[in-house]
Amino acid sequence: MKALQYPHIGAAPVLTDVPDPEPGPGQVLLKVTAAGACHSDIAVMSMGADQIAFPLPLTLGHEGVGTVAALGDGAKGFEVGDSVAVYGPWGCGVCHNCAQGKENYCLRAEKEGIFPPGLGAPGAMAEYLLVDDARHLIPLGDLDPVSTVPLTDAGLTPYHAIKLSVPRLIAGSTAVVIGTGGLGHVAIQLLRAMTPARVIALDVAEEKLELARSVGAHEAMLSDGKAAARIADLTSGNGAALVLDCVGAPPTTALASECVGIEGDVTVLGIGGGAVSVGFGSLRYEATVRSPYWGSRAELEEVLEFARQGVLDVHVEQFALDDAPRAYELLHDGKINGRAVMVP
Ligand code: NAD
Ligand code: ZN
Ligand code: ZN
Repeated sequence: MKALQYPHIGAAPVLTDVPDPEPGPGQVLLKVTAAGACHSDIAVMSMGADQIAFPLPLTLGHEGVGTVAALGDGAKGFEVGDSVAVYGPWGCGVCHNCAQGKENYCLRAEKEGIFPPGLGAPGAMAEYLLVDDARHLIPLGDLDPVSTVPLTDAGLTPYHAIKLSVPRLIAGSTAVVIGTGGLGHVAIQLLRAMTPARVIALDVAEEKLELARSVGAHEAMLSDGKAAARIADLTSGNGAALVLDCVGAPPTTALASECVGIEGDVTVLGIGGGAVSVGFGSLRYEATVRSPYWGSRAELEEVLEFARQGVLDVHVEQFALDDAPRAYELLHDGKINGRAVMVP
């Protein structure tokens, strides 16, 4: 089958022929119907050999949906032909965190060498995807695979983050979203659906700000040297109840620190090498700083429920799998608006 692989350190991703996978005991084979490209893939492909914890080549794609093609011995709960979404952050399934559905925070995954598909295990940018266990699958029903696949990460990650801040996001409060790409443009919509907060979106590209406005941001502005002052103006100097940093680079974590209000939350989702320092005087009183990873299985069900209710408008740029290397070039250059989705 065809698969998009990151072959070795420093290389560009390439379309490769690999053997068709076959499901072993308990595993489920999916015929991939759509796979999303995340900026974290770019981060993985920028790492040095000492930073990558898994062997290469790697089939990319940690956002995947498909139809069940075959069930391994003992795999239960699904029928051939069912349309499903893949919960990506696989864990051991039995530790204290996994027992709560929080496999993203599995206590044993690292020790046992368990990796998410596309981030260590073979991913969804291929014709078929092998899923280790049926518990990682959530029925999609009639949801459109192409516009739904980004919700498995670009939806789930901000959903989990926003849920933690809902009690603070009361009427009259402000949420700031920095970076309105794949994650950010879904975050804006989730904020609007889950809270009465006013949403201020920031990005460095005018077309991304246009998208932010079109999906519900009350204000959208350039993320530049004047942004902190503008946000202070818009919040009467009080700052934001939540700053959701979907970039996480030094200029954005600095901006997030400046914009958060008293008792506000700074939640850093982006992995751009920035940091927020905590200490008396460095942030407003009693601000909370978090850096969450992905979300729980139950939360993915909740995000998909939002999609079923028709409140999410995921902006997708669709590519054939053959064209995936070009999609990654565009993503690298900041030229994808919304999410790039590959269809095999
Ligand atoms: P993306 O490329 O789709 O979007 C990033 C957006 O940020 C773009 O619109 C870009 O124009 C904008 N941007 C860049 N520099 C900026 C700046 N200085 N100020 C404001 N905006 C700026 O990326 P994505 O797939 O949405 O991922 C966003 C980040 O989140 C990445 O760092 C990714 O690795 C990370 N991520 C983290 C998790 C997690 O679990 N914590 C999950 C998924 C992605
Ligand atoms: Zn991701
Ligand atoms: Zn576990």
